[in-house]
Amino acid sequence: MIYLDHNATTPPAPEVIAAMLPVLSGLWANASSQHGPGQQAKRALSTARATVAEVLGCKPVEVIFTSGATEANHLAVRGLLAASVPARRRVLFGSVEHAGHLRLARALRDAGVPVDLLPVQRDGTLDLAAAASLIGPDVALVSLMAANNETGALMPVTEVAALAHAAGALLHVDATQLIGKLPFEFAGYGADAVSLSAHKFHGPKGVGALLLRLGLPCVPQILGSQERGRRGGTENLAGIVGLAAALALLGDVRPQAARLARLRDALESGLTRALPETHIWCRQVPRLAGTSYLRFGQLSVDVVLQRLDGLGVAASSGAACASGGSQPSHVLMAMGVPVEEALSAVRFSLGTSTTPAQINTLLDALPPLLEPLLHEQVLAAP
Ligand code: PMP
Repeated sequence: MIYLDHNATTPPAPEVIAAMLPVLSGLWANASSQHGPGQQAKRALSTARATVAEVLGCKPVEVIFTSGATEANHLAVRGLLAASVPARRRVLFGSVEHAGHLRLARALRDAGVPVDLLPVQRDGTLDLAAAASLIGPDVALVSLMAANNETGALMPVTEVAALAHAAGALLHVDATQLIGKLPFEFAGYGADAVSLSAHKFHGPKGVGALLLRLGLPCVPQILGSQERGRRGGTENLAGIVGLAAALALLGDVRPQAARLARLRDALESGLTRALPETHIWCRQVPRLAGTSYLRFGQLSVDVVLQRLDGLGVAASSGAACASGGSQPSHVLMAMGVPVEEALSAVRFSLGTSTTPAQINTLLDALPPLLEPLLHEQVLAAP
């Protein structure tokens, strides 16, 4: 199989599994228990927390373990909003946030919270001028992703942090797609809170963290004594140890990013050469190295994914499936892409396992399959 869906999830690294297995089999005691095994689990928890803090450039106390980025996003937005002063009730979300996060935006709006979306420009980058005009004195919090999971486009976190802080608002960043792919350090990043998820960087699923600036009030959303009362529930120790192991494995991510950018560029230029109808979104803007978001003319994404599947290639569509029918990607809609084009969106996301040979195989095999379909489509047009 040629796996080109790393933005959806990544395989757990063998070292991560090796770190987790002894926890599952031997360190199963409750980290809150007073007895010896409980204290042993507690020590493993604090070792993992220290590793996370060291790799991500924050203090151990700033790490709150969660079930993943979705929960971390909820905790940040609901928790920081609940702790804000009554004069600040407005929350701003990026318009191309992860679909789950935009559901939270809608839920808040339905509950009477003033919510605005920060628009993107046609090229997929954030409209900073619009952001500047929306971030006012009634804003409690801006919630913005660091890198888009569909297009790979990077968001101007530093600039938005400056705008938010000048207006007295907080900034939460969903860095789920950035961490593991580009250098990251919480101290100096500019955000007050940052979400991450282990399964995006070869860790296990169902575990992530919210990094929360020391001393910042944030009302817990799951009540309990764990995580200093900020997130209740017996800790997923194996998952947390796996998360820490995955982070410890990262090292300097820049050489990998450079390698993936070269492979991604080879893929894109090969496809556009073989199939001139190929259109690539966000090609000209700063974006994640391994992400390529494109369409082949207006060929249905289902047809393309079917052909890819036949070749043993796992890729993804930009469309979220809602009640059986394909919906155009909200990210492309926010960029002003026509629906007919958005319904053709295919996402390739490369990662650690991607090799030049795999890209060559794809470039040799896919165009001959798509070319006749593209011509049929052209001929079929009135
Ligand atoms: N935010 C972004 C940008 C994502 O890409 C994802 C995962 N697709 C999430 C949040 C949700 O992460 P999790 O699966 O850990 O809840």
